[in-house]
Amino acid sequence: MAKKALITGITGQDGSHLADLLLSKGYEVYGLIRRLSKPNTENINHLLDRITFVDGDLADQASLISAVKKCMPDEIYNLAAQSFVGTSWTQPELTSNITGLGALRVFEAARQACPTARIYQASSSEMFGNSIPPQNEDTPLVPRSPYGVAKLFAHRMARIYRESYKMHISCGILFNHEGERRGIEFVTRKITDAVARIKLGKQKEIRLGDTSTRRDWGYAPEYVELMWRMLQQEKPDDYVVATGETHTITEFVEEAFKCAGIPGGPEIWSIYVKNDARFGRPAEVVDLRGDYSKAKLKLGWEPKVKFKDLVKIMVDADMKRVGGERA
Ligand code: NAP
Repeated sequence: MAKKALITGITGQDGSHLADLLLSKGYEVYGLIRRLSKPNTENINHLLDRITFVDGDLADQASLISAVKKCMPDEIYNLAAQSFVGTSWTQPELTSNITGLGALRVFEAARQACPTARIYQASSSEMFGNSIPPQNEDTPLVPRSPYGVAKLFAHRMARIYRESYKMHISCGILFNHEGERRGIEFVTRKITDAVARIKLGKQKEIRLGDTSTRRDWGYAPEYVELMWRMLQQEKPDDYVVATGETHTITEFVEEAFKCAGIPGGPEIWSIYVKNDARFGRPAEVVDLRGDYSKAKLKLGWEPKVKFKDLVKIMVDADMKRVGGERA
């Protein structure tokens, strides 16, 4: 019989890639969908007739219990969150409620309705704050944003449920991962979209906050494979998932200009980039670089798509999309 998986956050970047992966493995896939005034299924339009949708919201415990009862899943992937660090500064309470308490509600729904389900919790490198890189599973967790704190709450609660109720809950401490389905508000996608528009004469500049911050950027479809591998292990555990490389936002901008074939060099390209204080944050995480040795050893995984390949994938996709837009 096919295994059943319930994915929260199925309309997002990771949820949609994970749905692709699980369907290709023969899973019966259920997707939790919250009520919106306008449907938001762009990332999963190619899968609509292959997914069973269940209504629910991470703010609503009863809806999650009912969703779990409807599916009785073998595996639950909790990917839903208010996932944008910037918004966590303007909506800290909502972020705590969805990203933090929401995860607890998912664990509780499973405990009450289907305690044998294996659960993946989407933890984040933002929990490390400014702990010195490279960061691994033993690095101190000292978050610097409301988002990071909410993720840390969920991460700790996952451990409590794992140890107290013997539930199979694993946390992936994922470093930034991007791709052609990344939300447009995230800096990588904002850059590749803007560079495509500049190349095609539809935009004149990119407005960014601090471009000196460093991130470890991987490719989303590769990272969702790890979520699945974690749940196939006999014992639940926590794993860092990263590439081990770090680059500044300035380097990302320069690589994107290069990929788009915009002539010049760093000095010319920098003319297009305008610093805009509106995109700054009250506190920054300055340098993230993950040590994925444990995932390599125990899950047999290594990243294949590195920085330059990633930027190219994203620029190519945005050139195609922006080029196809009506004037
Ligand atoms: P994303 O594209 O922003 O997707 C977030 C998903 O959460 C969307 O499907 C959204 O649904 C759903 N959601 C938001 N609020 C909800 C609510 N109240 N009830 C139910 N669903 C709700 O995020 P992502 O990049 O795929 O990331 C997946 C997970 O990994 C998130 O938890 C994120 O915080 C975490 N993470 C991401 C990264 C990364 O670099 N991408 C790194 C580390 C950890 P709507 O479509 O209805 O808005």
